[in-house]
Amino acid sequence: MRDKHCGSVSRDDIGKVIELAGWVFRRRDHGGLIFADLRDITGIVQVVFSPEISSEAHERAGDIKQEYVLKVTGRVEKRPPETENPNMPTGDIEVLANSFEILNTSKPLPFQLDEDEPNESLRLKYRYLDLRRPEIQKIFLARHKAYKVTRDYLTDKGFYEFETPFLTKSTPEGARDFIVPSRLNAGMFYALPQSPQLFKQILMIGGFDRYFQIVRCFRDEELRADRQPEFTQIDIEMSFVDVDDVLALGEGLIMSLYKELKGTDADSPIPRMTYADAMELYGTDKPDLRFDLPLKDITGIFQGTEFGVFKKTINEGGIIKAVVLKGKTLSRKDLDTAVDAAKDMGAGGLIWIRKENDALQSPVVKFMKDEEKASLSKVFELSNGDVLFIVADKKDKTNEVMGRFRLYIGEKFGLIDKATDKLLWVTDFPLLEYSELEKRYIARHHPFTSPKESIRNFNGDYESIIARAYDLVLNGVEIGGGSIRNYRMDEQLEMFRLLNIKEEEAAEKFGFLLEALEMGAPPHGGIAFGFDRILMMFLGLESIRDVIPFPKTQKGTCLMTGAPSSIGQKQLNELKIRTVIK
Ligand code: ASP
Repeated sequence: MRDKHCGSVSRDDIGKVIELAGWVFRRRDHGGLIFADLRDITGIVQVVFSPEISSEAHERAGDIKQEYVLKVTGRVEKRPPETENPNMPTGDIEVLANSFEILNTSKPLPFQLDEDEPNESLRLKYRYLDLRRPEIQKIFLARHKAYKVTRDYLTDKGFYEFETPFLTKSTPEGARDFIVPSRLNAGMFYALPQSPQLFKQILMIGGFDRYFQIVRCFRDEELRADRQPEFTQIDIEMSFVDVDDVLALGEGLIMSLYKELKGTDADSPIPRMTYADAMELYGTDKPDLRFDLPLKDITGIFQGTEFGVFKKTINEGGIIKAVVLKGKTLSRKDLDTAVDAAKDMGAGGLIWIRKENDALQSPVVKFMKDEEKASLSKVFELSNGDVLFIVADKKDKTNEVMGRFRLYIGEKFGLIDKATDKLLWVTDFPLLEYSELEKRYIARHHPFTSPKESIRNFNGDYESIIARAYDLVLNGVEIGGGSIRNYRMDEQLEMFRLLNIKEEEAAEKFGFLLEALEMGAPPHGGIAFGFDRILMMFLGLESIRDVIPFPKTQKGTCLMTGAPSSIGQKQLNELKIRTVIK
């Protein structure tokens, strides 16, 4: 229907008569002349309806409205000098219409496509209109390139692409499953995969050596700006590898994606930090390294303290951590707001100490000994104006609060360099964590992760077992993670024993994997990257919904199709299901 795309018309076409097709983006009636910006996926070109070229076309152009679909025949001309538009790739030419056809009309739109920030509910309900907006189209063209870069990179490295089932058994990733009833097996349910974890391990046992899949995963979790119930992972598994091999491969992939999406190189090599260091220095396993504001454990300074709060914390086995803010002038109100912010983060309290006129000031300094104050001054090299913020609590709580408080300070006082990107590998995660809820250990990553050292070497001190597990963090957000797996049955059973998973339960849930481990399973490990999250962050977008063509709302609904919806009695009968909503 057309000779060219709108965005590809150029000076080279001047003098040619061409046919174009597209949507009317904007239309301006200047009496004598009518202008229409014709848009397609490649861009926009200006079409001019002039009575001097075709009075018939000019007259009919009066009826054209926004988002009408046109086919236009016209001659490409250089624009008159003062009317050139340097902001438009096709800004130096225009198409003088000889004739045109209205292929389709459009009702008035629920929002304007060139509006700055259309209402998000309207955008999602009329997603096809939203998808027509040039800035949204750009995102999906980038997404397309990211698929290609991923496939090219991994194919080049000897990986094979697979598809694994969506109708499957529950996979142990720790989130809630979405379930699908089976008609042929009444009363039975499939689970949608939270990840292809077990299948990719089986593919290694099947001898494929290197697997990847750009795969949809499903997790029924509480939704946030960077979470969707279905999302895409770049899922990877490799045989005969150790941690360094997986990290090197993952790093290469991330570098290629970064280069493609941002046009520049990311800093490499990506630094590494152990989980223990990350917790110690930043109070979190995903530190944002765009600013340097490390936490300091000052429990040692207060070993013999008389200050009640600290004394109690230390006696109860807790810790005291501080962060210092230098070179900013803080008002009393700033300090009060900081205290409130820390309380909102779950802190029992936040202590501030300010150095002024060469002395430490704070409602609590009167409880501190001179040598304690001197130590603080020395350790933090305090100058006048500097402020120390301190939290004293149980270890986990202190880390959690201080980790978040550090981000608050960074944000509030403009310490974060938003123009940079800081990638970080966090390694050496603990294998287990204790679940107060379940009153047992649970796997921090998943139950197939292998320990660095045999579990048998740890006599009861299970929290100190380190896993061969790693995460990739970008600017304080986890964008990938994986581990080296247990590949021998005895190792896997040890792990289940720690997790208090009985043999029958293990056999029921993952019997096929256990059997496979006993038939020549190779050493293997892998990683999965959050494809949507990577796109969102590399493209500098705020919401994961912006990089997913048909996203769901925070309540898990699709405003365009109306999913989820009730189903008819006939379908329920076929499934032999009766619904009772509690
Ligand atoms: N299946 C894991 C996940 O989705 C990734 C991995 O261990 O490779 O987080």
